[in-house]
Amino acid sequence: MRNKVIAGNWKMNKVLSEADQFAVSVTGKLPKDDSVEAIVCAPFPFLPSLVEKAKGSNLKVGAQNMHFEDSGAFTGEVSPAMLQDLGVTHVVIGHSERREHFAETDESVNKKVHAAFNHDLIPIVCVGETLEQREANETMSHIESQVRTGLRHLSDEQIGSVIIAYEPIWAIGTGKTASSSDADQVCSLIRSVIKDMTSENVAEQVVIQYGGSVKATNIDELLDQPDIDGALVGGASLDPESFLQLVEAGTK
Ligand code: PGA
Repeated sequence: MRNKVIAGNWKMNKVLSEADQFAVSVTGKLPKDDSVEAIVCAPFPFLPSLVEKAKGSNLKVGAQNMHFEDSGAFTGEVSPAMLQDLGVTHVVIGHSERREHFAETDESVNKKVHAAFNHDLIPIVCVGETLEQREANETMSHIESQVRTGLRHLSDEQIGSVIIAYEPIWAIGTGKTASSSDADQVCSLIRSVIKDMTSENVAEQVVIQYGGSVKATNIDELLDQPDIDGALVGGASLDPESFLQLVEAGTK
C-alpha cells in the first residue's frame, strides 16, 4: 500500500510571519499516523523558520524550485546543497509555471531531478498538458514524453522514490478540476510508463499526485481513484484549516 502524500504549493504567497503562523496552527493538529504525509512547499525565505517550527511534528518542508548545480556563478539561484543543509526534504521540480514563465524544459527537469537525489531531496516532478493538447488528443503522448525525459538515467531505486504530480495546466488555479476518472486515467498511464522504464514492483511504489484546483470538497473523490496517491495543492493549501482538512482526507 502506498501512503498518501498531500503537498501544499504556496507559490509566491505569504510573508514570513504568516508562514510561521501557519506552521504553529497546523503542527499540533496533523494526523499522528504515518498513512499520510503532509508537506508544505514554501518560498525560499521561509524555509529555515518552517523547518525549525516543523521539528518534532509530522509536517515536512519542501522548496518550490532549485538550480541543478551545487554552486557557482548563477546570480539569484538556490542550490540543492543549500536546501539539503537547511533540512528541507522535498523539492517541486518543473511546475508548469516554471516551464511557462522561466523556460524550464524536460531536460532541465531531468538535471534537477538528478541533483535532488544527489542531495537526498525527494523531487516532486510536475507533468501536465495544456488545454490545446488535451483537445488535440495529445495528452497521453505529451505526458509520456515528459515522464520519460524527466526521469531519464535514474536508477530503479531512485525512480521508486520520485513523487510525480500530474497537473493538467488548464485545471491549475482555474477552479476547473479534471474529473476524477480522467485524472486517474492519466495517473495510470504514468504508472504504466514507469513500469515500462523499470518494473512492476517499482511502478507500484511510485506516489502519483493529482493537482489542479484540489480542495476539501473534491479531494475525497480524487483520492478514491486507484492510481491517485495524493495531491499537490495551490490555493487551498494556504489556509491552515483547509490544509488540515486536505491532509485528513488522506487518512481515509
Ligand atoms: P491550484 O494549484 O490548487 O491553486 O490549482 C495547484 C498547483 O499549481 O500546484
